[in-house]
Amino acid sequence: MYQKGRAWIELNLENLRFNVQQLKKMLPKTCKLMPAVKANAYGHGALPIAKALQEMGIEDFCVASVEEGIELRNAGIAGNILILGYTHPRQFEQLVKYELTQTVVDSVYAGKMAEYGKEFRVHIGIDTGMHRLGINWMDMEAIRSIWEYKKLKVTGIFSHLCAADGKSQKEKDYTKEQIKRFELVVNQLKQEGKTGFSTHLQGSYGILNYPECRFDYARPGIVLYGLFSRLMECESREKCSNLCSATEAKLRPVLSLKTRVESVRILEQGESAGYGMAYTALSRRKIAVLSIGYADGVPREIAGKAYVLCQGKKVPMIGRICMDQMLVDVTEIPDISSGDEVVLIGRSGEEQIPAETYAEWTGSITNEVVSRLGVRLERIVSS
Ligand SMILES: *Cc1c(COP(=O)(O)O)cnc(C)c1O
Repeated sequence: MYQKGRAWIELNLENLRFNVQQLKKMLPKTCKLMPAVKANAYGHGALPIAKALQEMGIEDFCVASVEEGIELRNAGIAGNILILGYTHPRQFEQLVKYELTQTVVDSVYAGKMAEYGKEFRVHIGIDTGMHRLGINWMDMEAIRSIWEYKKLKVTGIFSHLCAADGKSQKEKDYTKEQIKRFELVVNQLKQEGKTGFSTHLQGSYGILNYPECRFDYARPGIVLYGLFSRLMECESREKCSNLCSATEAKLRPVLSLKTRVESVRILEQGESAGYGMAYTALSRRKIAVLSIGYADGVPREIAGKAYVLCQGKKVPMIGRICMDQMLVDVTEIPDISSGDEVVLIGRSGEEQIPAETYAEWTGSITNEVVSRLGVRLERIVSS
């Protein structure tokens, strides 16, 4: 079936390859990537992204849930798949069946896994200061005790930084403290003769801002997709040189979001359009109805601030965003008609709308904006 009919995502896998190489260059040679392909690869499409990464030689992935892990296995992803989050004991069988690695999220959870009676591969989460998941870094006894469960095969230990993107001294100091705590735990375990486990700490901003860390893996998410969490960082990439290294990283966005003009109509002066009569034409306007809406992940709250690109020109969104449609003012585009392509994220002619701009419109981060892109959008590899 034709896939560019209504609304779709185009994936530029060359840019993905470029980003992988950029990130590898930043890290020590011995450090491998364990990309975060959770949340449908941040909305990009878990299968096309994971398959492309596998073809680039990447063998390790992390996801949030057992379902996400199974999806990858069924699609032929052969390497290690680490589940970062919670798996219910009634899903333990799936861990075995699909050879997934489970995070030990705390000591109680380790006990439940051990009780189940089958052998599991686990990575131990260490809480070095985020206080979300993991065993407290100071509780060496609890950490050590995981090795005593004969059914748990510890193939990794990791922690997560909670302020690696921060530019304040407080955040930098805290991050350095987290790194130090994790290193202490690792060194202690190695001194005790424990072997056969890998180590990993950095996510995207850990890689960008603390690339000198020496662990076996890094877990990039958002930057792998060529995005910064905020517009400030991507804009200042070229302009400003005295910020953190995040601003100097050269990355290329992988995703474009596109839709089509469904219908073009004229609004006479004083006529309103859309739900709640939220928009009223102050003069005679030409409007286009686009076949994409909030059910596809276009945030409803951006109405009034946002624009799209049409034939290389910015055209403003008007009225309220509907579930399946939205309206734009195309008065300035003379020859627009039903079926024409419109860009929401990406490039059109000389103009472009980065995902970071969406993040700014919503007051959120790109991570949220792209991971909420809907299942109804086709994911198409652009050639
Ligand atoms: C999501 C996640 C990552 C990736 O985060 P980014 O900031 O997108 O790179 C890394 N580690 C853990 C534990 C995560 O949950």
